[in-house]
Amino acid sequence: MDQIYDTLIIGGGLSGLSVGHFLKQARPGHSFAILEAASRPGGVIKSHRNGAYLSEQGPHGFLDNCPESQKMLRDLELDRETVTAPLAQHVRYVYLHGRLNLIPQSPGKIIVAPLISWPAKLRVLAELWQKPLADDATVAEWVGRRFGRELLPYADAVFTGTWAGDYQQLLLAAVMPGLRALETEHGSVLRGLIKMMRARKSGRTQAKKPVAMPAMTSFPDGMERLPQRLAEEFTANQFRCDYPVTAIGREDGLWRARSERGDLRAAALVVALPVNAALRLLRAYAATPVEAVPEAFIKNIVTAFSGQTLPPGFGYLAPEAAGRYALGSLFSSNMFAGRAASGQILCETLVGGRRHPERYQDDGDLGRALADIRETLGLRGEPVYAETLRPLAGIPQLEAGANALLAWRGRLTAENPGLFVCGFGWNGIGVNDMIKTAKAVATARLAGDRVDQSAEVKKIYF
Ligand SMILES: Cc1cc2nc3c(=O)[nH]c(=O)nc-3n(C[C@H](O)[C@H](O)[C@H](O)COP(=O)(O)OP(=O)(O)OC[C@H]3O[C@@H](n4cnc5c(N)ncnc54)[C@H](O)[C@@H]3O)c2cc1C
Repeated sequence: MDQIYDTLIIGGGLSGLSVGHFLKQARPGHSFAILEAASRPGGVIKSHRNGAYLSEQGPHGFLDNCPESQKMLRDLELDRETVTAPLAQHVRYVYLHGRLNLIPQSPGKIIVAPLISWPAKLRVLAELWQKPLADDATVAEWVGRRFGRELLPYADAVFTGTWAGDYQQLLLAAVMPGLRALETEHGSVLRGLIKMMRARKSGRTQAKKPVAMPAMTSFPDGMERLPQRLAEEFTANQFRCDYPVTAIGREDGLWRARSERGDLRAAALVVALPVNAALRLLRAYAATPVEAVPEAFIKNIVTAFSGQTLPPGFGYLAPEAAGRYALGSLFSSNMFAGRAASGQILCETLVGGRRHPERYQDDGDLGRALADIRETLGLRGEPVYAETLRPLAGIPQLEAGANALLAWRGRLTAENPGLFVCGFGWNGIGVNDMIKTAKAVATARLAGDRVDQSAEVKKIYF
């Protein structure tokens, strides 16, 4: 007789590994297996070392302001290994009007900074009287109508830097559900924020600590250390590589995962996959409202220069209106030690994204990318090292139809107790989003409950 697990987890990227971690932490006797198609853990998290140079094919880091991620680091004793770049010291820029503009790291300071005109500043206040927009408003429509059109390039920069997306297509309600909830519940985002601040001051919510600026976090050998360390925690039975699941089903009150390596059964099933991989599996089990969502691909053109300096800070973003070739650059050697040889700088320039798939495809564009960063960053001459890295997967985009897709997932999991769907794109796209959702899934699984889907108001950092 084959073993019946308490929980099967499909996908051994950060999401699936984190669900396994939190299950193990909360209930060591809980039996589970994480089934991963590839021969390594970590999904899109992949660090790249070439001699003295260390760069990333996937995420470059995550902020240290998420309690669930911080707990996981402590559980794994990874908190002793982290390298950090505090945002308070590592300023960021938006390239606009032919120059780098230093961006204060809070919406309030952005409004008072000399980045936008006085009429535009006053227009922001008119948000208090704007009617809520329809559910299918794009980010650009929503920001333009609620806060005024002068803020659009900055909103574009935020969604370029996070989703590599097109803010004229991403749906606000799907990508910023917390802001959307403030708008619908209070009639205005500003009014909602003011009420939240008052509640915090009067001590009615738990967030009593003064809000400190977070730090960007990684590891001396790059982000891949995180999934590698997570995978070390599991036995060979708990984490199985080269185990692609081809179908899922439910029989005799148990969930079944089908694979050429053998079928496995469990009382609960966590589909911890990016939206499109999840849809491929779920489609045979229940009709899905869309076949697939678009994905944005960004390549990383890594360059090192000798005897030159980068502007101080973290990096810059270029909104579409700036007309640049690259989406922006990360000043990696400013943030973390050991990214380039001594006396050199390392700059990671991102190209492509949802609006420019042809640039992502172009193999011969090093010259264009270099011309771009020479002009924006004032770098001179030829790099001493240059390499183009492509990610293992694209970033799922929540565009037209995404609200119906997310509502469908809610109904599917409500109608199928023991089924959980999380992973890249479902509840955000960041490392912290994945870990936070994984903790919520593990908690709900152990409680025999559903995942709390209440929307969080996230802070925006450029
Ligand atoms: C280029 C890029 C840059 C990014 N930069 C940042 C950043 O700087 N900061 C940040 O916070 N976040 C960033 N992210 C996002 C972050 O990397 C993701 O949130 C996170 O890694 C997603 O983890 P996941 O496990 O949900 O998905 P994935 O990493 O995609 O893992 C899914 C896993 O499931 C496996 N799988 C798929 N189908 C099956 C199947 N049928 N059976 C079994 N296994 C299967 C895959 O092989 C894969 O290993 C970036 C992402 C990309 C792509």
